[in-house]
Amino acid sequence: MTPDDIEHFFATLRAANPRPQTELVYTSVFELLAAVLLSAQATDVSVNKATRTLFARAPTPQRMLDLGVDVVSGHIRTIGLFRTKAKNLIATCGILVQQHGGVVPRTREALEQLPGVGRKTANVVLNVAFGEPTCAVDTHIFRVANRSGLAPGKDPLTVEMGLLERVPAPYREDAHHWLILHGRYVCQARQPQCGVCSVRTWCDAGRDGLPAGWLEPRRLQSSEGG
Ligand code: SF4
Repeated sequence: MTPDDIEHFFATLRAANPRPQTELVYTSVFELLAAVLLSAQATDVSVNKATRTLFARAPTPQRMLDLGVDVVSGHIRTIGLFRTKAKNLIATCGILVQQHGGVVPRTREALEQLPGVGRKTANVVLNVAFGEPTCAVDTHIFRVANRSGLAPGKDPLTVEMGLLERVPAPYREDAHHWLILHGRYVCQARQPQCGVCSVRTWCDAGRDGLPAGWLEPRRLQSSEGG
């Protein structure tokens, strides 16, 4: 994609959805962090179902800590890796209470120190809660960036760096949401909807036609959901 293509690509996505939002349900920065931590290898819909009752009982790190691993596990047992996620969430709450006064820190360094919080989760929190122009590369963004030619790369970090470099400044804060939603509902893994895709004119694959037998890059399928 040329810089001109990229400008049109994002202008089109923005015109259709000027204020894109995450599909995770949360009412505080802490709940956002917890929901993202629970969302690895799970869909947002399944996380929202589990957190509806969990957050009603434990809306703060201290209240979550008070529940303990077993009770938290009971609330989230319908999502993958629930036991490990429950342990990580409780350990994270312990650090938030002991080291951060019960408040979610605003720096990447501090966020990535929390158990179960990697670069992707930190990027989501920095972007959604604090408005930073980060781009958390999940399986959808990885696919769209590679297929469209927006920011090709063999691994998530390369794609993330490519996006930060190539996405024009006015679109950076919301690019993460537009790309996820586009990948989830239009540029789908096995059957991309190129025929009805609003950005086909500027997409390398859509313009040229997807190669026969094109399949989802498998690198991220086994490790990330959504
Ligand atoms: S034209 Fe096809 S490959 Fe390109 S972004 Fe749209 S759905 Fe994806």
